Amino acid sequence: MSESIVSIRNLATHYPITGGWFGPTPVVRALDNIDLEIKRGQFFGLVGESGSGKTTLGRAILKAAPISAGKIIFHDGKKEFDINTLAKQDVLAFRRQAQLIFQDPYAALSPRMTVRDIIAEPLEVMKLTNSKDETNQRVREIASECRLNVEHLRRFPHAFSGGQRQRISIARALVANPSFMVADESVAALDVSIQADILNLLKSLQHQRGLTFLFISHDLSVVAHVCDIVAVMYLGRLVEMAPTRKLFAKQRHPYTAALLSAIPSLDLDHHHMAIKLEGEIPSPITPPSGCRFHTRCAYAQDRCKMEIPQWRKLDDDHSVACHFADELDL
Ligand code: SF4
Repeated sequence: MSESIVSIRNLATHYPITGGWFGPTPVVRALDNIDLEIKRGQFFGLVGESGSGKTTLGRAILKAAPISAGKIIFHDGKKEFDINTLAKQDVLAFRRQAQLIFQDPYAALSPRMTVRDIIAEPLEVMKLTNSKDETNQRVREIASECRLNVEHLRRFPHAFSGGQRQRISIARALVANPSFMVADESVAALDVSIQADILNLLKSLQHQRGLTFLFISHDLSVVAHVCDIVAVMYLGRLVEMAPTRKLFAKQRHPYTAALLSAIPSLDLDHHHMAIKLEGEIPSPITPPSGCRFHTRCAYAQDRCKMEIPQWRKLDDDHSVACHFADELDL
């Protein structure tokens, strides 16, 4: 069995903007030159500011965003396939394997359906059970695994708190027995105490079921708590990737260093200065030439404006895209 569950090669996602009258059609360059490997059983973190492309990347892996160039290979344990050239009859099987947990547990659940029906829906749509009894049995098992009571199954979503609703969403995503889950800002809408509860549930699902997670978040303190490996994105490109401890101990890209410096610290003996990022993230329609970060980077030199930094390995498990990663003292 392949060690990887998702392999991405030179991926690009560009959205043409329609409605212009003159000149060439402008294009939103949401993703460019993405190369990464997600290993089976990993809790893989994807971070960056709003507009960095992290949600588009998660959606592209789920076949919910277009692929303009490159490949996404999914390894289902028995065979591997390019999700962009998937035959129609195989799409449903892929959807069973790869599921999404939504950000907003209030909008994700139909207010007209009971919790039982919400959780049972994927089983019925994908015809994964042979009888109503089998469906009910499966729904009860998954509900219990997600720490929901049997009485909850008869109620409607409005009767639940945000944390309980997110557990219903997780149960719904889990019921088809997927091997890969994308959690896109899945705790961002919840109170801090509830966030911990949901993160602990996701981690226990990772361990008990050997699930692989792509965990998309703008909150680095949450990522530090749960992820095994972290990739940092800026304006549609990967800029750094390393195991979580390694990345938090020593960053090699100025953008990662700036993001991490902004995490509030409770350690009163070790105050650190946040590195201020000047200005907004530029438009993905007209991204800066060379290194896309050069307009905000305190270490930028002339070369950075002209030459795109290559995505390269610094060692076995640490990759970066900065011309001066070996020299900078961050
Ligand atoms: Fe900064 Fe240049 Fe490195 Fe880009 S390549 S991060 S602009 S030093």
